[in-house]
Amino acid sequence: VSKERGETESVNHTLLAKYRTSTIAVKAAADAVQIHGAQGIGAEASVQRHYRDAKVMEIIEGTTQIQQTMLGQFAVRAARL
Ligand SMILES: Cc1cc2nc3c(=O)[nH]c(=O)nc-3n(C[C@H](O)[C@H](O)[C@H](O)COP(=O)(O)OP(=O)(O)OC[C@H]3O[C@@H](n4cnc5c(N)ncnc54)[C@H](O)[C@@H]3O)c2cc1C
Repeated sequence: VSKERGETESVNHTLLAKYRTSTIAVKAAADAVQIHGAQGIGAEASVQRHYRDAKVMEIIEGTTQIQQTMLGQFAVRAARL
């Protein structure tokens, strides 16, 4: 919505949305693997597939670490305004 309005904050909002959803998905999938114990990590386990599918979202389209750096830069810039 902020992108359609042409707001400069739209990049920050997009970064934040991708960062939050990908890290939460990885946490949920990792918990699912853990709950299943050794059975959860096997190649045939559906939960390990969910973990891999979630984990790749922390890598593609901007890694988690790069997003943290950019979000930090946005926060510092906003604090100076
Ligand atoms: C399934 C899949 C599909 C893909 N599809 C595409 C596609 O369609 N188009 C495309 O262009 N690319 C695509 N990629 C590539 C993807 O964009 C890159 O893998 C991603 O940008 C990370 O780059 P890299 O793998 O070279 O990791 P690197 O850049 O080598 O990073 C390795 C690790 O170091 C960290 N790191 C790097 N620099 C810093 C830093 N300055 N500070 C802190 N941490 C840092 C990263 O966060 C990461 O954890 C795809 C990858 C996958 C796995």
